[in-house]
Amino acid sequence: MSIPAQPSGVPDAEPDGPEGRLRRFATIWSRAIFPSTATSMTRPEFEEHLLPLARALSDILHSRVFDATPAHRVGAALVAAHCTDPDALSSSLGVVDSYLVLYCGGNGPVELSTEDSRARCARIQHALAGGFTQALRERTLSEQEAIARSALTARSHAEQALHATEARFRAVFKDAAIGIGIADLEGNILEINDTLTRMFGGLENHVRSHKVNEWVHPEDSPYVWKYYDELVRGEREHYSVEKPYYRNDGTVLWTNLTVSLLRDSEGRPEYQLALLEDTTERRLLNLRLRYEATHDALTGLPNRTLFFERLEKALAPREGMRFGLCYLDLDGFKAINDSLGHAAGDRLLVEVADRLQSCGTAPGEMVARLGGDEFVALTTGPRTQDDVHELAGRILLALATPIRLDGRELTVRGSIGVVEGPSGERTAAEVLRSADITMYRAKAAGGNRFALADAEADARAITRHGLTTALPAALDRGEFFIEYQPLVHLGDGSVHGAEALVRWCHPQHGVLGPDRFIPLAEHTGLIVPLGRWVLEESVRQANFWQERHTDGGPLRINVNLSPAQLHHPSLVAETVDVLERSGLEPGALCLEVTESALIGADDDLLKPLRQLAEMGVDIALDDFGTGYSNLANLRRLPVSVLKLDRSFTQGMQHHPADPVDLKIVEGIVSLAHSLDLAVTVEGVETGAQAEQLRQLGCDTAQGWYYARPGAPDRIHALLLADAV
Ligand code: C2E
Ligand code: MG
Ligand code: MG
Repeated sequence: MSIPAQPSGVPDAEPDGPEGRLRRFATIWSRAIFPSTATSMTRPEFEEHLLPLARALSDILHSRVFDATPAHRVGAALVAAHCTDPDALSSSLGVVDSYLVLYCGGNGPVELSTEDSRARCARIQHALAGGFTQALRERTLSEQEAIARSALTARSHAEQALHATEARFRAVFKDAAIGIGIADLEGNILEINDTLTRMFGGLENHVRSHKVNEWVHPEDSPYVWKYYDELVRGEREHYSVEKPYYRNDGTVLWTNLTVSLLRDSEGRPEYQLALLEDTTERRLLNLRLRYEATHDALTGLPNRTLFFERLEKALAPREGMRFGLCYLDLDGFKAINDSLGHAAGDRLLVEVADRLQSCGTAPGEMVARLGGDEFVALTTGPRTQDDVHELAGRILLALATPIRLDGRELTVRGSIGVVEGPSGERTAAEVLRSADITMYRAKAAGGNRFALADAEADARAITRHGLTTALPAALDRGEFFIEYQPLVHLGDGSVHGAEALVRWCHPQHGVLGPDRFIPLAEHTGLIVPLGRWVLEESVRQANFWQERHTDGGPLRINVNLSPAQLHHPSLVAETVDVLERSGLEPGALCLEVTESALIGADDDLLKPLRQLAEMGVDIALDDFGTGYSNLANLRRLPVSVLKLDRSFTQGMQHHPADPVDLKIVEGIVSLAHSLDLAVTVEGVETGAQAEQLRQLGCDTAQGWYYARPGAPDRIHALLLADAV
């Protein structure tokens, strides 16, 4: 059984019940917009009028199947209630944004998460703004139509009047709501009505003292004077244009001007009749609406919308035209915001915006804010190859002077991605993506610099990005697999163990080596679950070999550990767990840690390794010799194996081998042995190398000479061969 919901419209007495909260919302709303309405209602009447609109918004917020379109009607209803000022719209959106969820959030039958409510609220605002703007436009159009109709009537009346009586003509003239003037064909003004005088600033003399063809304005449309000439010559009956004039105080009056030719009773051109409708305010309103829609409220810079319009224009194919784009992101802005607060952050952005603005003032240049601490500067023209470098340099220079905020001097730096090219080749989205990637390259190189886009780097970054996002699902879908490369005793060539090396069988790119994705997995943290899987899988595999191969001593498994895994608090517990569940003894496992991961390691970092070593797990120092570690430090580390990097082996390719190389390896081996460390060499590719390394005292080896990394059953086969 369900409890029927309270029918809307029935007020409940509880002030903090749903109805009370709804009313609170309507009160706040009415308080916010009443001052900017032109309504004849009193304030309480107005609030009463808003209540059903508030209820409609609340119902939309809670609708089972969400649909924001009814909010459109709420926007239109505001216009119908004479809330036509742009402030009324922005205040309404502000109120809906801050209070709708707060007061009406819990009112409905549908349980909504905060996130859902916010998302719905945002879409409601969009629909409301859309309804408002559309209604306002329709209203303006119908007003225009009414005026145009009255102009037409006036014109035919005027014509009749001219042919009829002077008295009636005067009456039409005086009463008309639009400006009317009559001039002869030379342009001398003969008659004007009061409305026209008022439109021009109230001085009749000001209007009469000029001939019609002297009212030239720099923003005149290119056709207006051509039409005029045609009309006075009798070749045209009328024309309509939008035309600006100067009032007597120098301000500009915008009009919709309609001029008609008046002929005498024989049909010869005699007078011109002008009807002028004042459109100044409507134009200002439109400009203001457009300005608000295309500028950033905080800094006053053009916003994303306007920037995209310009960029698209710049990219449209035009012979010989090029574009240059600087995409700027401040370095470390988040830290400033977090430490000094958002108000200080905002002031900093305003200062940065001012400085940037002064960098892009040449014709064809624009500066815009895309959001947050991201800005762009665009330049267009035939020679942007040079211009864009200068522009990027100017921007860095403009940021170089510290900014004073609350008595502190803040040094603001930025990273800029620069993209330049001919028009007509790329879309705005492509250009922006390239600029974004390039900006990150500038940041990765240390920031406070600009980098130039290049197609290859873009492509690399894009696949890197693609791989990074595909990684988590790849682990779930089992796209990783492990190859094993045998470790061999240099003394007798017997297989002593194997190193587990992970690969990714990517659905599009095929098999990828660890160099392609381990750094990405480390960066995103996925290395921890991936590394855990490698450990589990290879320990399970080693145990399987162990069971099949009882003679010749235990077979060992080497598993690589990333720095991120080393830092992970459950490394020891998980390793113990994996070993216990598989039944493999700890002495058969060797964890490989790179030398560079242990340089400068403190006791906290070494503790888990030490615990594992105490349990009997071997720790190998991988890629030894590449990380410049202090040899004296080896004593501190809980390692039992040194894996000499491949570069040493490569040095032995030549015959005879470089004696200095040989001395170095010999030195390392004797030092290692004196510290009780075994030495494994990597990358053995020839028999000569193997022999050389054996003579130098190395214990075990790994390399293509013995086997490439391969499927687990290959190791099994090698073991069997050994046994024979
Ligand atoms: P690494 O641990 O030094 O592994 C040895 C690398 O040398 C392997 O490359 C192996 O295929 C290659 N190699 C072996 N013998 C020869 C040879 O004779 N000549 C040449 N030129 N190369 C040889 P791979 O498989 O591409 O692995 C690269 C690195 O990726 C590894 O270096 C290791 O640091 C890392 N890695 C591989 N698997 C894992 C894993 O499961 N976890 C982590 N964290 N890292 C892994
Ligand atoms: Mg290794
Ligand atoms: Mg290595």
